Amino acid sequence: MLEEIVLREYGKNIRKCSVDELYHATLKLVQDMAAEKEITGKKKKLYYISAEFLIGKLLSNNLINLGIYDTVAGELKAAGKEITELEDREPEPSLGNGGLGRLAACFLDSIATLGLPGDGIGLNYHYGLFRQKFKKCRQKEKPNPWIEKEGWLIRSEKSYTVSFGDFDVKASMYDILVTGYDNGTNRLHLFDLDSVDESIVKKGIDFDKEQIPKNLTLFLYPDDSDEEGRLLRVYQQYFMVSCGAQLILEEAKERGSNLYDLADYVAVQINDTHPSMVIPELIRLLMAEGIPWNEAVQIVTDTCAYTNHTILAEALEKWPVSFLEKVAPAIVPIIRRLDEEMKKKYADPAVAIIDEGDRVHMAHMDMHFGHSVNGVAFLHTEILKNSELNEFYKLYPEKFNNKTNGITFRRWLLHCNHGLTDFLTETIGEEFKRDAAALEKLLAYKEEDAVLKRLVEIKKENKHALAVYLKENQKIHLDENSIFDIQIKRLHEYKRQQLNALYAIHKYKEIKAGKKPERPITLIFGAKAAPAYVIAKDIIHLILCLQKLIAKDKKVSPYLNVVMVENYNVTNAEKLIPACDISEQISLASKEASGTGNMKFMLNGAVTLGTDDGANVEIHELVGDENIYIFGENSDTVIARYDRGDYCSKDYYDKNPDLKEAVDFIVSKKMLRIGSKKKLNRLYEELLNKDWFMTFPDFPAYVKAKEKAYRDYEDSRAWAQKMLVNIAKAGYFSSDRTIKQYNEEIWHL
Ligand SMILES: *Cc1c(COP(=O)(O)O)cnc(C)c1O
Repeated sequence: MLEEIVLREYGKNIRKCSVDELYHATLKLVQDMAAEKEITGKKKKLYYISAEFLIGKLLSNNLINLGIYDTVAGELKAAGKEITELEDREPEPSLGNGGLGRLAACFLDSIATLGLPGDGIGLNYHYGLFRQKFKKCRQKEKPNPWIEKEGWLIRSEKSYTVSFGDFDVKASMYDILVTGYDNGTNRLHLFDLDSVDESIVKKGIDFDKEQIPKNLTLFLYPDDSDEEGRLLRVYQQYFMVSCGAQLILEEAKERGSNLYDLADYVAVQINDTHPSMVIPELIRLLMAEGIPWNEAVQIVTDTCAYTNHTILAEALEKWPVSFLEKVAPAIVPIIRRLDEEMKKKYADPAVAIIDEGDRVHMAHMDMHFGHSVNGVAFLHTEILKNSELNEFYKLYPEKFNNKTNGITFRRWLLHCNHGLTDFLTETIGEEFKRDAAALEKLLAYKEEDAVLKRLVEIKKENKHALAVYLKENQKIHLDENSIFDIQIKRLHEYKRQQLNALYAIHKYKEIKAGKKPERPITLIFGAKAAPAYVIAKDIIHLILCLQKLIAKDKKVSPYLNVVMVENYNVTNAEKLIPACDISEQISLASKEASGTGNMKFMLNGAVTLGTDDGANVEIHELVGDENIYIFGENSDTVIARYDRGDYCSKDYYDKNPDLKEAVDFIVSKKMLRIGSKKKLNRLYEELLNKDWFMTFPDFPAYVKAKEKAYRDYEDSRAWAQKMLVNIAKAGYFSSDRTIKQYNEEIWHL
């Protein structure tokens, strides 16, 4: 298969080709095969608009989806090459930040896998988020260039004009083919500007934020700690939706829509509020086609649906009208009119689109003028309905629905865990590859020693593979005999990496005092902090200082190690997750909308240590009390305490000597010798005087749950049974299930 291509392209056989040549030949093979399977000729089509698509490397996943992975890998092997060399050569596209972007990527995979017509719409960030480096126990941000001359991006013929307040720009559209598993191909459309100039990036990721034509698609989430940065985000958002809306209407007409019947031809899913301006933009374009106001508004409402991803108030976007007047004056009259109509209808200022401070609440526009509002896990949707968005729920109960997130099993099992995939195939057959629910067949083997032993062995092999990978790539040494206790996710106070760090200190102190754990423990972290998020960076600093302190301590390091993996991304996740024993999902109850990392870990046989939050609640229900470690206060308690506003972290600190000792250690002499006084002090003060995400009340329960998990781990058979149940019950979290629900209940493709 590959041999033919390299003979034709390079005039030599595989054995004589360089890795680079083989990579490009395989890429071409995939592109050609994928293009032949494009899903066309259907009447209605979905557009999934998202500021992020954290798609990860594409080569092997595409080979799997096209059903030729084994053939190509075998062909390479026969010629003395390894497919992993090609995988290592591929740069990871840097088009996303965290869970929301990864969800969009999993969804595109599932949409194509189900054979549904659905394309992604986003931006072609040249330098993506940022590449994280650690220096002096601090995070440094570097540009992350990923676009290659010959890569996955295909430049299309399409081009659109976008009119900003002061100038027009001409957009180009690039496509990435999205293959489905043994099914059709869709596209991810990424818009860009030819005038973008990478040379304006100075030190780190600094650049002139005012030169819009040169900087528009340089970075995802440019620093928004100043006004120029916030304006740039609005420029990006309007650019994305204006291009998207033009494409959507053009294609709808091609498929036969007269635009009055747009909702029969198009479904638009708005992924969080970043693409919300697509609503007024579509109304504007329909009116430009001669459709009257009332009808245009109704058509757009019938077409658009909104997904909410957070209940953190500060994350719900509100843009000053003055920003929109500068960036997108054409849609301001439309937003004002939508606002006036709603104010006439509903007196409650809590549901206004434009507030008294002249700020546009993007989510409010989505809820009034979209036909569906969904949360991303059962608990999250309940909280939206009953508290966060209760005013809207009362107006539109029929619009609210839940779509518990999912993950694509192609990437998060078939691709990242060959050992487990092969073993599952031998044990329960191939069916789970098409239908994730078939993983339940594994439950029949819960008492079979041979199966349990093999699960433990596979985990060992994956831990070894991770150790090799981290040694080669990050000069990190792991004790393969230790428990791998892993917390990898963006750094945010609500996710509470600081709680895990406090545990590390507590354990360190215990070991120092002579209380050694039965088995060594490795606490593994991976997280990027937003460049302007000061406390998040301080938490990284704390973890890196602990890593250094413990590594140097000959008394402690044989029993406990803290390791922070640099530049946590999809590629690293694919190595870390299969090697995990304990999956840390310890967000403050009520704050994590769903989580998807928790699902990936479960699928790969890790046992969750977590709060009853987000999709942990559903995991808990599926696997039962014996196969998960749930601790801490529940969401009702937390929400009630926020409502009372009487949380005082100092009270907990004063009452719990273990906690006090751990917190005080942050600013101890030992730590100050390694780290920055300013940073460690700031974090210490923050915890002591604020601790907004309530780590102190959960500390004792967390320590207890963790110790219990570590003890239980020593009964290898019983632990393997927990692993087995987790794997067997993970089928529910296939994004194929999620997408089926979106389609049946929202899109109707
Ligand atoms: C899955 C994933 C996430 C989301 O993780 P959560 O634990 O759900 O926050 C973030 N980043 C990457 C690279 C992922 O693969």
